Amino acid sequence: MSQRPNHLPVPNPTPSYWRSQPDELDNHQTVPELPSQCDILIVGGGYVGVSTAYHLLKAISSSSSSPKPRVVLLEARNTSSGATGRNGGHLRPDLTSAPAQLLERYGPEAASAVAQFEVDHMDAIAQLVREEQIDCDFTIEPAGLEVFTTKEQLAAGKKRFAQLRAHPASFGTLLDGVRFYEGDDAPAHTGVRDAKGYFVSRVAHLSPYKFTLALLSRALELGLVLKTHTPVLSIAKQATNPPSQHQYLITTPHGTLTTTQLILATNAYTSALLPEYSAAIIPCRGLACHISPAPPAPAATPSSGPPQLPQLRSTSLCLRVATPSGIPGYHYLIQRPDAERSIVVGGAHHTYKFATTNTNPEGGDQRGVWYNTVDDASFIERARAFYCNESEDGGFMARTFGPSSSSVSTEKGIVTDWATVQTQVDHVWTGIMGYSADSLPHIGEVPGREGVFVLAGFHGHGMPVGYLAAKGVVEMVVGGKVYEETGLPGVYKTTGERLKPVWDDILGDGK
Ligand SMILES: Cc1cc2nc3c(=O)[nH]c(=O)nc-3n(C[C@H](O)[C@H](O)[C@H](O)COP(=O)(O)OP(=O)(O)OC[C@H]3O[C@@H](n4cnc5c(N)ncnc54)[C@H](O)[C@@H]3O)c2cc1C
Repeated sequence: MSQRPNHLPVPNPTPSYWRSQPDELDNHQTVPELPSQCDILIVGGGYVGVSTAYHLLKAISSSSSSPKPRVVLLEARNTSSGATGRNGGHLRPDLTSAPAQLLERYGPEAASAVAQFEVDHMDAIAQLVREEQIDCDFTIEPAGLEVFTTKEQLAAGKKRFAQLRAHPASFGTLLDGVRFYEGDDAPAHTGVRDAKGYFVSRVAHLSPYKFTLALLSRALELGLVLKTHTPVLSIAKQATNPPSQHQYLITTPHGTLTTTQLILATNAYTSALLPEYSAAIIPCRGLACHISPAPPAPAATPSSGPPQLPQLRSTSLCLRVATPSGIPGYHYLIQRPDAERSIVVGGAHHTYKFATTNTNPEGGDQRGVWYNTVDDASFIERARAFYCNESEDGGFMARTFGPSSSSVSTEKGIVTDWATVQTQVDHVWTGIMGYSADSLPHIGEVPGREGVFVLAGFHGHGMPVGYLAAKGVVEMVVGGKVYEETGLPGVYKTTGERLKPVWDDILGDGK
């Protein structure tokens, strides 16, 4: 297998808010030297690689087999320094957008299987957090909002919802928990000044970094061997005796290692090790930031407590927005359960995510700033400016939530004019997502490579997918199941056909 160093993680990524207080396992080395051999190697120390390690070690420790397989995890940088440590913190099942596209392409059963799989994550993670006593600010928000700020987006959202509701056998129960509303009082209901309508559904959010590091500590207690700062440069199949068995030689800057089974949880970076994925999964850059109360001016009268942002109507919002000429985009926003009620928000796609120069009054071919890049050491300047710049209408929160929300009492009993609230953007960062051409992750055994498994291509939406996807792959690797016996959605299966994509959802008209 060839090496593509241009798609390996880069040094010195932009510092994210989540990683501002590194865990003691951030740079962990279980052993000083790279082991020369293991039974199962996981490559990638993000949410998915660590979830895989956790499920694997749990399965191995509860089995009576002896000797126990030796499991090693190699991570190119620090643990959770990829998309996981740089995301928006949402664990938000998509019940209204992607399922409509899946319905059109694959039919109602396939579409509802994906939606159900995502919904199942909320309860699975809630149970895990409880059982393992994981401190990761996990919060279930019973009334997460998806807010439409243009009539066109509202009409499209309504249409998608109607298409799904036309299949009650597949979507009836799933959509019972989704409420749709449109009307002139949508700003009053949501606090979003340009709201035209919205969906309400049960969602969750968490600190992805704290969650992943806590899960990693449980896996280490169960016997995982972890080496950070150990990029895998290449993987090559080795001749074995008898020849029917498989063995892989892994090359790193710190030496080589052989393994019989290999799990690549390398997400955006997968094509560096598996070139056959280079058309199916493209690394794409996104940007997010953290907003907190501005410190009081030195001359200000001392207040009763530390500064705190006003409570939003919901702690989880997806905001569908557009530029004046109609280029669509969205923001995903959570309000944290911390003392400051701080905000993590990302997206701003409408400021840069368009490909051509001629047709956009906003101008400029911005593809180079986000498409096919693994550079999370630099920013997307238009998105950064959008969140950081104070205009005449104030900062991002005032422009988005005020002043119309000032005139209404919220369900939580708080009357807020964001125009009067002093905020600061204290962290801005970028991260690299694995966008797949058909918008679906690639899960399972790599076609034509026995003993090599992949979990990759999670878009900006891996949190309600990756934990149970990892469980399914572990059932294949140590449980001897075939993909179809794992309960994983059929459309996630990585296949030879999907490696020659017929859809172009990344640059085309897809999702
Ligand atoms: C700005 C931004 C906002 C997002 N917001 C959300 C959100 O709110 N909700 C949501 O669900 N999803 C969100 N996502 C997406 C989500 O973060 C990802 O889907 C998820 O983290 C994928 O986890 P992962 O472990 O597969 O990938 P990653 O976290 O990227 O982990 C892959 C790991 O593999 C390592 N690696 C790669 N190649 C090699 C190699 N050759 N050798 C050794 N190690 C290697 C990398 O260093 C990395 O640590 C967002 C992503 C970004 C960038």
